[in-house]
Amino acid sequence: MSKLPNKTDVILIGAGVMSATLGALLKELAPEWEIKVFEKLTSAGEESSNEWNNAGTGHSALCELNYTTEKSDGSIDISKAVKINEQFQLSRQFWSYLVKSNLIRNPEDFIMPIPHMSLVQGEKDVTFLKKRLEALSKSPLFQGMEYSENPEKLKEWMPLIMEERTSTEPMAATKIDSGTDVNFGALTRMLFDYLKTKNVEMNYNHGVKDIKRTSNGLWEVKVHDMNSGKIENHTAKFVFIGAGGASLPLLQKTGIPESKQIGGFPVSGLFMVCNNPEVIERHHAKVYGKAKVGAPPMSVPHLDTRFIDNKKSLLFGPFAGFSPKFLKTGSNLDLIGSVKPNNLFTMLAAGMKEMSLTKYLIQQVLLSNEKRLEELREFIPTAKLEDWDVVIAGQRVQVIKDTEAGGKGTLQFGTEVVTASDGTIAALLGASPGASTAVHVMLEVLEKCFPKNMKNWQGKVKEMIPSYGLSLSDQPELFRELHQSTAETLGLVKKKETSDHSNKVGTEVYS
Ligand SMILES: Cc1cc2nc3c(=O)[nH]c(=O)nc-3n(C[C@H](O)[C@H](O)[C@H](O)COP(=O)(O)OP(=O)(O)OC[C@H]3O[C@@H](n4cnc5c(N)ncnc54)[C@H](O)[C@@H]3O)c2cc1C
Repeated sequence: MSKLPNKTDVILIGAGVMSATLGALLKELAPEWEIKVFEKLTSAGEESSNEWNNAGTGHSALCELNYTTEKSDGSIDISKAVKINEQFQLSRQFWSYLVKSNLIRNPEDFIMPIPHMSLVQGEKDVTFLKKRLEALSKSPLFQGMEYSENPEKLKEWMPLIMEERTSTEPMAATKIDSGTDVNFGALTRMLFDYLKTKNVEMNYNHGVKDIKRTSNGLWEVKVHDMNSGKIENHTAKFVFIGAGGASLPLLQKTGIPESKQIGGFPVSGLFMVCNNPEVIERHHAKVYGKAKVGAPPMSVPHLDTRFIDNKKSLLFGPFAGFSPKFLKTGSNLDLIGSVKPNNLFTMLAAGMKEMSLTKYLIQQVLLSNEKRLEELREFIPTAKLEDWDVVIAGQRVQVIKDTEAGGKGTLQFGTEVVTASDGTIAALLGASPGASTAVHVMLEVLEKCFPKNMKNWQGKVKEMIPSYGLSLSDQPELFRELHQSTAETLGLVKKKETSDHSNKVGTEVYS
């Protein structure tokens, strides 16, 4: 479509899972559009999307207790859980479409079935878990969830966690077999490999330095080619800032009114990774606990079986911490550099409000390995320090903005799509629920930035993502049908032809 040198239709900044997802959606919806990707690192999926930088949970609210809150009348609010589950279904459907169409292959390299469990201790939390199960059971999205307080059953579900447990406090857990572990790094690389075959221009070692609007309404992106040391200027009709934690400073450079009065609060993280194959073999689940009082939601402790490079591994964490960097590969000046006259008061207000959070994060950074082991032993009483290494996880930059409910400088824990009023530029800020909901978030970008095209694209969007625009919780039949078909395509269940006396063909599920 575009003819001028260095002029293109779409520029994607950053080669993480978000840009990869947007690129893949656009290539199906508008195959003739030219797309260029600029990534400052040497390959795709190296920051938060990398498999060792996040927990790889296919977030669908099957085990994360912070998505269901207890209301003042004692009832459980499941609306957030339903929303996140529905968003994950969109990702499953799009990934299945890509696999079915042979655009990506070998889904087992990026998604694996793994039971999701929630584990609590103490009478109050046991009551909460039971009520949570009752509330979730009313929705078709959470069918198949089991509950138990029976120590023998819990031993069967999580032998490593129950071994040599001496506490007499009541314990309870829920288990659902339809959970997933997602290798978002592998998925990101697969998506960019596919995009390369569709002539998407991948520019690694290219850091974006500035973004300015030109007099003819295009966006000019100034890029540092780190191979040649040269500065290049590229123009595009549409720019997506998918730079992860570094999206905020790039958004600020655009000068659009929507970029003002927004700040970022970086939260670092680390995981403990088991190096003992015998220990790894004795756990097969993602087990989520409850966050400690005062801890931010992203530091809910969990013990996760992971599948990375066809190998099973075991992660515990994350331990949140404070670092002024916006990316793992960022600079110590990132936070201070993001303070501008237009967000100064928002940032100061957040600083005052979030003193206790900052204190908590600094305390977490200062934890010794022995202290971390104490926290791990709440999950695995028999854990030994020599069986565990520490890996630094990705950075999450939480959005700070002024809101009606929270007032000036309110810390947000979700993701925010910020777009210019004319839809020519969009940025993704925030990090939660994250990569699992990439398809939902990128559809939001398309709706906001290409409202007219989206009308024409409806048919194709529905072909790729059949539940787009529908509420699956209101359509149990459709949910069951799509959940089963995506599970089969993604290899999460095994299709087994069984014939009964009436010669009907059935499907047996394993996970
Ligand atoms: C500790 C932790 C645990 C998590 N656990 C989960 C989980 O269990 N499940 C889940 O769904 N999500 C999880 N997430 C969130 C998930 O990892 C992120 O939401 C997701 O990876 C973000 O993808 P992205 O493409 O926006 O950013 P990234 O993957 O960070 O990609 C951004 C890219 O932009 C590049 N870039 C930055 N600046 C520039 C520039 N100026 N020029 C060019 N390129 C640039 C970076 O190098 C990077 O490659 C977790 C995150 C963390 C940190």
